[in-house]
Amino acid sequence: MQARGHSTSDQNGIVGSVARSVVSVRGLCKTYGEETAVDRVDLEVTAGELVALLGPSGCGKTTTLRLIAGFDRPDGGEILLDGNPVASASVFVAPERRRVGVVFQDYALFPHLSVAENIGFGVRDKAARAERVGAMLDLVGLASKARRKPHELSGGEQQRVAIARVLAPDPAIVLLDEPFSNLDAALRGRVREEVRDILSAAGATSIFVTHDQEEALSVADRVAVMNSGRILQCDDPSTLYEHPADRFVATFVGDADLLPGTSVGAMVDTPLGLVAAVSGGPTGSVDVVLRPEHIRLRLDGSGGATVMRIVFLGHDQVVEVRLDSGERVRARLRPEAMFHAGERVSVNVNQPVVTFASPVSATI
Ligand code: ATP
Repeated sequence: MQARGHSTSDQNGIVGSVARSVVSVRGLCKTYGEETAVDRVDLEVTAGELVALLGPSGCGKTTTLRLIAGFDRPDGGEILLDGNPVASASVFVAPERRRVGVVFQDYALFPHLSVAENIGFGVRDKAARAERVGAMLDLVGLASKARRKPHELSGGEQQRVAIARVLAPDPAIVLLDEPFSNLDAALRGRVREEVRDILSAAGATSIFVTHDQEEALSVADRVAVMNSGRILQCDDPSTLYEHPADRFVATFVGDADLLPGTSVGAMVDTPLGLVAAVSGGPTGSVDVVLRPEHIRLRLDGSGGATVMRIVFLGHDQVVEVRLDSGERVRARLRPEAMFHAGERVSVNVNQPVVTFASPVSATI
């Protein structure tokens, strides 16, 4: 992960440091008829940062991106780019005047133009064009293919041309909509790294949309998790994973099973027995977040669980057990661990668990 010098942030991504804010989104709203696509979204993106908008289908990611690009007008809130309002109740700056570069899902390259011509297309200053195109070709490692047409390139190379074309006019911000979804699984991992490195080398400030949590965690400096039009948490990947703000984030980002429990001081009483809790959690009835990699199993005829299913993944395996109390828990284990369906096991948790007030006690 590239360190891009940003500081800590609160739940909405408001950054508490001197880093220059390139994108400020405040109270952004967009409705389509009865439907609220974007609901009071706040987001700050600082210079050189790469932020992912992550969430399930229909949660409002693309709409947020389109509002920042200027393709749609918000119904409420405001957007500032480089400190200047570009959308608010009284201002609307057209997309072509926002210095925003957009990389579309299908790359949208001009098929009849060469790689170099595609890259130079948006550079208005003719005198500077050739030099800028040369610099971008070097940046994306395609100098030797400058004369080719897009159809003579691989999917990953086309992706790099699309990024070079967007970077060439020196935009204030780069927006990428599901940038890796057109690539097959084998290519995706490598292209992800390349794109991250290119954006970092260019010092670009970028926002990309994805519904793939692995993609968001592995590429972004910070990840804004969206659901139902709202940003639930915006944090760096490890904070998001270790300290999810709510149940949705806990279960959407990474694998997790939830168990009911009762908080007793620093411990939680659960169907697995007493388990240590992360400090600062709620008291009373809680839901406990169990990450499969924190679960250990031991063959134990008098244990409180039965092995139900084993999914072998090569580098590890996921063993699903059913507790005698009825709940299901998954354990991620080394590939050589040998368990079989039907075996009785005891289940232990080897890390303090995150807890949330259970919905029932939270509404009382
Ligand atoms: P996906 O991952 O499937 O692309 P998304 O998170 O990007 O989803 P959006 O495309 O932003 O979601 O859509 C958010 C909500 O707004 C959805 O319920 C969608 O049906 C609705 N929506 C988006 N654009 C329009 C439109 N032009 N007219 C009407 N409804 C729309």
